[in-house]
Amino acid sequence: VHTPPAQGRPAQHQQPQGAKQILNASGGRQESPSPEQQEEEKKPLTEWDKKVAEIMKDLRGVDENAAKQILNEIVVQGDEVHWEDIAGLEAAKSSLKETVVYPFLRPDLFSGLREPARGMLLFGPPGTGKTMLARAVATESNSTFFSISASSLTSKFLGESEKLVRALFFMAKALAPSIIFVDEIDSLLSQRSDSGEHEASRRIKNEFLVQWSDLASAAAGREREGDVQRVLVLAATNLPWGIDEAARRRFVRRQYIPLPEIETREAQFTKLLAAQRTNLSEEERKGLLQLTEGFSGSDITALTKDAAMGPLRALGDKLLTTSREDIRPIGYQDFISSLAFIRPSVSKEGLKAFEDWAAEYGSSG
Ligand code: ADP
Repeated sequence: VHTPPAQGRPAQHQQPQGAKQILNASGGRQESPSPEQQEEEKKPLTEWDKKVAEIMKDLRGVDENAAKQILNEIVVQGDEVHWEDIAGLEAAKSSLKETVVYPFLRPDLFSGLREPARGMLLFGPPGTGKTMLARAVATESNSTFFSISASSLTSKFLGESEKLVRALFFMAKALAPSIIFVDEIDSLLSQRSDSGEHEASRRIKNEFLVQWSDLASAAAGREREGDVQRVLVLAATNLPWGIDEAARRRFVRRQYIPLPEIETREAQFTKLLAAQRTNLSEEERKGLLQLTEGFSGSDITALTKDAAMGPLRALGDKLLTTSREDIRPIGYQDFISSLAFIRPSVSKEGLKAFEDWAAEYGSSG
């Protein structure tokens, strides 16, 4: 869940165009628009822009700034992730298809007894692809993707958080089908003794739970009218045992995202090295797969990136004058050197804790 900065959420800086338009329209601060702004104003409005403008006109009591903040910082657009980008994790993919993707694409088939879940939890060691999976779900189900880290809700936005939570759910409904992805959900739904719990975080937690429940009851009402609302809370955590019992039960599906198995590690190496020159023998490849037992997806990415630097490091200053073709391929020794300091981020004991929790509370399959 804690992604290295380079792989953070690259899409977030790409602001939805609609949000920008609205900010410009109501901001009124700029007396003389810059040439880029003039350029932008000439661009025809997209369907998204029109939809957002409609929503902003009728916020039904939701705080306007909070709504803008949701559009600017929480809605993720562009830089899509597809199923194929994620190595392995077949069980998780099929569970997500059944729980979210198919119901979102075929709401007519998923009603009554087949009514889709309103909450799904992805849990497991950090760096195993939970965030990637959530993004792929949003892409594959043609949903609006809202991505927020629970710790930022309780820290960065403190004071504004309740308004923001309300705006989040309002926008998700308005822009449905929507996925609300909450990373580090444990920090929002943690079990704390009532006395020790900060008043502010207790209020945010309550607001979140209330909004989430409303979603389910509103959906039930609409379903009777034959229009199922499609909004799902998809949450991720590295600390599943930190979630309190009542909140845990609301996640109808709790999907364990384990460390990658040998086939998954192989697929990931293949993907990462596809566009690189390498000279690994079959034997060496197998060796590498053995040596990376216990590595997470992000450990493997870090290792491969570092090994790929090997041939350049070997050149020193000559790097500046060597032509591309003369740079040697990435070899086994590069990986061995990198393995000296890139180690698995999850310990054996740490892994056992996840497996125990999965056995007790995880959904099978
Ligand atoms: P989590 O949310 O579980 O902590 P992320 O989804 O943020 O993990 O993964 C971190 C990084 O690790 C990704 O950006 C990707 O580079 C790599 N990674 C992790 N798991 C996989 C996977 N199954 N397939 C491909 N890349 C992966």
